Amino acid sequence: MVASVESMTDEESMVLDSVDRFLERDVKPYARALEHADEWPEEIVEKMKELGLFGATIGQDYGGLGLNATTYTKIVEKVARVWMSVSGIFNSHLIMAAALEKYGTEEQKQHWLPRFATGELRGGIALTEPDCGTDLQAIRTRAERQDDHYVVNGAKTWISNSVRGNILAVLTKTDPKAEPRHKGMSLFLIEKGDGFIVQKKLEKLGYKGIDSGEFTLEDCIVPHDNLIGGVEGQGLQHILGGLALGRINVAARGVGVARAAFEDSLAYSQVRKTFGKPICEHQAIALKLADMATRVEAARHLTEAAAKAYDTDERVDLEAGMAKLAATEAAMENAQEAMRIHGAYGYSKEFDIERYYRDAPLLCIGEGTNELQRIIIAKQLVKKYPA
Ligand SMILES: Cc1cc2nc3c(=O)[nH]c(=O)nc-3n(C[C@H](O)[C@H](O)[C@H](O)COP(=O)(O)OP(=O)(O)OC[C@H]3O[C@@H](n4cnc5c(N)ncnc54)[C@H](O)[C@@H]3O)c2cc1C
Repeated sequence: MVASVESMTDEESMVLDSVDRFLERDVKPYARALEHADEWPEEIVEKMKELGLFGATIGQDYGGLGLNATTYTKIVEKVARVWMSVSGIFNSHLIMAAALEKYGTEEQKQHWLPRFATGELRGGIALTEPDCGTDLQAIRTRAERQDDHYVVNGAKTWISNSVRGNILAVLTKTDPKAEPRHKGMSLFLIEKGDGFIVQKKLEKLGYKGIDSGEFTLEDCIVPHDNLIGGVEGQGLQHILGGLALGRINVAARGVGVARAAFEDSLAYSQVRKTFGKPICEHQAIALKLADMATRVEAARHLTEAAAKAYDTDERVDLEAGMAKLAATEAAMENAQEAMRIHGAYGYSKEFDIERYYRDAPLLCIGEGTNELQRIIIAKQLVKKYPA
């Protein structure tokens, strides 16, 4: 079930090999205990810095590895297969970096990207607020211009990397009365400091280890230079540009979790015996295994197609939406089937199945819920095939 390495450069193959070694040596042996303790994986993060993962998709001119989305999704799948939370630590960070690299001024890119690439500055994207997530144009966080700076006030919640990270791309309203509403939205890079108050780390069903937090901005002074692109009113467009990569990476995480559930089940079903034979020889279980493997392959193909389209600079709303929808639903279904195949052991904390079962639903919510993906897909279809 390993992704094809054909047509990869030597450098990309080397990166994938070092990711494999890192996962085997530094993540696998510790994942279960760290996850159950909901402990932020400090040593793993340090190793990720050494590997260059915080700069995986950042251009080489800015100190990153400059990997394309196709190679990047292979990395994400591998990481999520071992411990999905770890992929969230660099994925959200790279969405922030992608928005900056696509839409920032040259000066902004030179200033921030090299420090994003090393992980010296680490963070993610702060869009969601206590009373809105899907309807992003309803946000209330306000950035008011005063001389050469902005004063930002508001509250953000469910923000990955907001407790342990030190910088976030924060979506704000610079003109709350603008019509259409998105024309009044702007995206800022905000470093932690005065007026940036972390309120709490949130308790979750799964996706443990990574810090999901709530913070407020209280008369937080942000220099004008931190406005991505330097022009107000383009924030939604900027973050949606970053989220294209985000959706592809969530799809890859879905492939990773779906694959983990399938591979563990395939192995277990060959050693667990009932009625004198391994359970994989009972047709009811065999059918599940076939469906699970098919879901993994289908999800991976859609994810690879979306990544390839992204790499050719096409708009990928349709491809990324389909990949995200299919792969994350595959993760949900495979996690549930793995639970059934493992019987009581699926319910045990001594196995990883219960973790896949708790982690998979997040993938259907994050980077735009799957209901929203269906809406995006349908809109794109009507646009592409007018009657
Ligand atoms: C662990 C975790 C980590 C997260 N990390 C981040 C992060 O780093 N940064 C960030 O900004 N956010 C983050 N989020 C928030 C996430 O992006 C939002 O939860 C998500 O966008 C959905 O928003 P909501 O929860 O407000 O649900 P709502 O928008 O209130 O939606 C509730 C339900 O209504 C459905 N719905 C909404 N509108 C429509 C419609 N028009 N048609 C049909 N159905 C609709 C939704 O699909 C959903 O089923 C995270 C969430 C979690 C759980």
